[in-house]
This record gives sequence, structure tokens and C-alpha cells, in this order.
Amino acid sequence: MKYGINQNENLIKCANCNEVVSNNGEFTVNFCSKCGAPLSVSAIADFEERKDAVKINLLNELKEIAADNKTDSFLDIVKVYREENE
Ligand SMILES: [Zn+2]
Repeated sequence: MKYGINQNENLIKCANCNEVVSNNGEFTVNFCSKCGAPLSVSAIADFEERKDAVKINLLNELKEIAADNKTDSFLDIVKVYREENE
């Protein structure tokens, strides 16, 4: 996913999907209304932080499953994870 904006005079377009997110050259939203891509620097930073947090949570969950089920088999771990999350 590309981040940020493509600016052309007063039109600001989402760099990810090309949706016009502003037609007066001013930023009023942090995220693209069409694809949800972060548009401002602070929104991008938040997005990256949340993404990292999700990854760490998932990794911890998989580690717990491995410990609970006494297995190092990735396939087994994924199977248990799927059962728990369906
Ligand atoms: Zn977009």
C-alpha cells in the first residue's frame, strides 16, 4: 500500500486508490473515505503502530497455543488458532 497524497493544485487525491479526498487543498480527514489508507503523517504513524501491535498480539497468541498444546508444528498451531477464532 502506498501512503500519503498526490497533490495537484487544490485537488488532493489518495495515493493508494486515487480517490479525491479534498477539493479545496485542505486536509479535513486523516483517512481515505474509499480505501481507508492513512493520509496524514500522524495517521500513518498510528496505522503502523497498530499494525505492529496486531502482529505482536498474533505472535503471542500463536506462542500460547504452541505452549498449551505442546507442539512446535506450525500446521497444528494454525489449526488450533482457526478453531479458536471461527
Ligand atoms: Zn484511498
